[in-house]
Amino acid sequence: MSIGHDHPRPDTGSWLDDAACRGADLNLFFPTKGNQSQWQVEAAKAICAECPVVEPCLNEAMGPPLEPYGIRGGLTFDERRNLRRRKQYAQKRRMA
Ligand code: SF4
Repeated sequence: MSIGHDHPRPDTGSWLDDAACRGADLNLFFPTKGNQSQWQVEAAKAICAECPVVEPCLNEAMGPPLEPYGIRGGLTFDERRNLRRRKQYAQKRRMA
């Protein structure tokens, strides 16, 4: 799938250099509200599914602070927030 790598960027030495979304259409990762958002979300997630740095990306997006915008690590903000709640709940249960 072509994701628009028209503008090569210099390496920075960080894991972001290997990001599958590098050079992709940012509108996919920051979808608009409304009818077109679902296909944008699915397209972004498809790119994330092939990304070699999904783990550090998601770890960074989980914060703190929890990244409130866009698709990061293959998850929307709502999905990241729910994941954080599940992790916090599991941690509380382990400590009880
Ligand atoms: S996991 Fe998704 S948002 Fe994160 S770097 Fe990879 S492609 Fe980009």
